[in-house]
Amino acid sequence: MSQIFCIANQKGGVGKTTTTVNLAAGLAKIGQKVLLVDLDPQGNATMGSGVDKRAMPLSVYDVLLESSTIAEAASAPEKLREAGAGYTVLGANRELAGAEVELVGEERRERRLRQALAAVDGDYDFILIDCPPALSLLTLNGLCAAQGVIVPMQCEYFALEGLADLTNTIKQVHANLNRDLRLIGLLRMMFDPRITLQQQVSDQLKAHYGPKVFDTIIPRNVRLAEAPSYGLPGVVFDPAAKGSKAFIEFASEMVERGLRA
Ligand code: ADP
Ligand code: MG
Repeated sequence: MSQIFCIANQKGGVGKTTTTVNLAAGLAKIGQKVLLVDLDPQGNATMGSGVDKRAMPLSVYDVLLESSTIAEAASAPEKLREAGAGYTVLGANRELAGAEVELVGEERRERRLRQALAAVDGDYDFILIDCPPALSLLTLNGLCAAQGVIVPMQCEYFALEGLADLTNTIKQVHANLNRDLRLIGLLRMMFDPRITLQQQVSDQLKAHYGPKVFDTIIPRNVRLAEAPSYGLPGVVFDPAAKGSKAFIEFASEMVERGLRA
């Protein structure tokens, strides 16, 4: 059975996409079979994996509208495979923004992704879903399909407040739509230990969430931010960068913890 995780946080710019592509590549590098699902109409995880979002014949949009299967719509970028970090990508582009409206009134509209993934369950060790920065129908499809949620966050003043909304949503989805769903962990992203406030918020996180805070910390590292413009995850673009090393460590932590946490 595949382990299916959503990378979610309703805040934009916290590092969801960076986490999704680098965790996918990091897991692939250590021998795991991975499917990345881009659920954000911005298509950043698609482009960041080297798939041209403007040239895709089929995407996650077609899968949600049940006009295509995942096997038909997904692709496996060669550049990633050549780098020893090959994973499969179910891409997204602007078309996906329309799915929200087109699915209104459809039955079981929040379960479209879950149904589609059932057909590939077992083909992958990990399925990672990059969610848009909103608690929308698209995110709900992700949460209904997953067994766990990974929450990347920056250690800033309002971070804890936003987390309360997200953990409530996870509880509600768990209670009403998907009994399997759990918060897997909080990932401290773009961390700079020299900033006292970040250290304080990190301490507060540990105090509130204990073992739900991942051991791995992803530092602020410009190489991770540069990589997408080359259509590569940081761990492929510059494996020696300290951000990339942190993601390889995070991939190992995920394999170890898996669904236990
Ligand atoms: P989200 O998907 O949550 O909107 P992104 O992953 O797109 O967030 O990240 C937002 C911006 O921050 C991007 O420009 C990305 O390249 C940059 N970024 C993400 N993680 C890091 C990091 N660890 N160090 C430096 N820049 C980062
Ligand atoms: Mg994103």
